[in-house]
Amino acid sequence: MLTPRPVFRFAPSPNGRLHLGHAYSALLNQHRAREAGGHLLLRIEDIDQTRCNRSLGEAAIDDLHWLGLRFDGAVRWQSEHLAEYHAAQKRLTEAGLTYPCSCTRKDLAALPPSPADPEGQPLYPGTCRSTGPRPGLPASLRLAMDRAAGGRALTMTEKGRVLPVDPAVWGDVVIARKDIGTSYHIAVCVDDALQGVSHVVRGTDLFAATSIHRLVQDILGLPEPHYHHHDLIRHDTGRKLAKSQGDRSLADLRAAGVTAADIRRQLGFS
Ligand code: GLU
Repeated sequence: MLTPRPVFRFAPSPNGRLHLGHAYSALLNQHRAREAGGHLLLRIEDIDQTRCNRSLGEAAIDDLHWLGLRFDGAVRWQSEHLAEYHAAQKRLTEAGLTYPCSCTRKDLAALPPSPADPEGQPLYPGTCRSTGPRPGLPASLRLAMDRAAGGRALTMTEKGRVLPVDPAVWGDVVIARKDIGTSYHIAVCVDDALQGVSHVVRGTDLFAATSIHRLVQDILGLPEPHYHHHDLIRHDTGRKLAKSQGDRSLADLRAAGVTAADIRRQLGFS
């Protein structure tokens, strides 16, 4: 039997124009896919329609083409697949692993600062789990972490090494936001499985969140991809690149006369 070809994907969230960090991640995915004789897919992660829109997604595709990237198959726009994410959430709920939470931003801001999750946010103390959500208020859906993760010995394969992971460090994480009805964690697990992604190459800022993904995959019976979390391209000052902090987008660089070849060379892909 033929071994299936590895499948890689680049999955930007178009909540602004793409910057050098995106270019690096996309080019690294392309490099790895070529090396492995695999496919490279493009997924536009636009579930958050409060921040993403179609034209930013189209602009991202245009920037990637300009950089010289070519993708296999059709582009998957997550905003067109919300029903699939809702179905996964329903399965978790039917398994008794979720509860609705009506806590507002203000309620959450009033929580004591520690213990904190890996991103420094206070762990949710489970208020709505014990009292139920307040009637009439919009609710998010949280994972009842102890029930969901209890008794599961989870691992992830990072750069070929099997590492233990513990999603409990995130507490009762939100798996469906009240404003958009789903979450990155659910959408990424559903889509990586649906698209047959075997290799996830993404920034190290998502390393810690992989424990949540491994848990969701395990509960839903989804396959486990190989992970490779790469360093982030940093600004001279050492902070993460972000459009909001005034870093120049690929479009700005292009308008200033920088060529795609210059960028590929600068990022180490000549
Ligand atoms: N959409 C996410 C981002 O742009 C990346 C998701 C992933 O690669 O898993 O940060």
